[in-house]
Amino acid sequence: MLIAGNWKMYKGAEEAAAFCRELRDQLEWVDGVDVAVCPPFLALSAAVQALAGTDIAVAAQNVHWENEGAFTGEVSAPMLFELGVYGAIVGHSERRQLFGETDENVGKRAAAGLEAGLSIIACVGETEAEREAGQTEDVLRRQLSVLEQHDQLVIAYEPVWAIGTGKTATPDQAQEAHRFIRSLIDVPILYGGSVKPDNAGELLSQPDVDGALVGGASLEVDSFASICKAAAQ
Ligand code: PEP
Repeated sequence: MLIAGNWKMYKGAEEAAAFCRELRDQLEWVDGVDVAVCPPFLALSAAVQALAGTDIAVAAQNVHWENEGAFTGEVSAPMLFELGVYGAIVGHSERRQLFGETDENVGKRAAAGLEAGLSIIACVGETEAEREAGQTEDVLRRQLSVLEQHDQLVIAYEPVWAIGTGKTATPDQAQEAHRFIRSLIDVPILYGGSVKPDNAGELLSQPDVDGALVGGASLEVDSFASICKAAAQ
């Protein structure tokens, strides 16, 4: 079971370090769950330092497919690796919707990150309109077609209509999508979309749900730690 917190564009280095110190205290006696935090690029180093000597991992929110070059605003896998970062998210729906990220780019980002030794959390998920039009499986199949099975690859199923909206997929909806994803690729599958302390237990108890990617509820230590504890049970 893996619980990863996607902080999006929240928390600078100082706030990240304070959060991580508090998280390590709260999770000190918690076993049976892998935990990762995904701060903005500028707070990665502070998070790595604050969590040194613990099992809590630090991942980035994106990674470029080239090692270096004229790619203004981008960060490469070797650069992350050098900082002590264990992995990166790719293909988050905010990247796809707001920053023009394509399936092809997502595939390249994932492949380069894996090649460099990072773990990759690749996000997939349908919009509300696609779900209503009965296209969920087609969308998932297309998004997954650029990803290859790998030991360090994790998929996050994040229905776009459930991200930051307070609308969570029902446990049955999550399970159905996860089972479909598993029929296409055999890697751990996280659920993401308005996961909170009060719904985490039920979602995580579904047979094909292997953890959660948490946005809003990962920004407060108490709520994130309580989701981690629910996963450990
Ligand atoms: C996310 O950003 O990956 C996410 C799932 O956000 P939230 O938990 O806020 O819906």
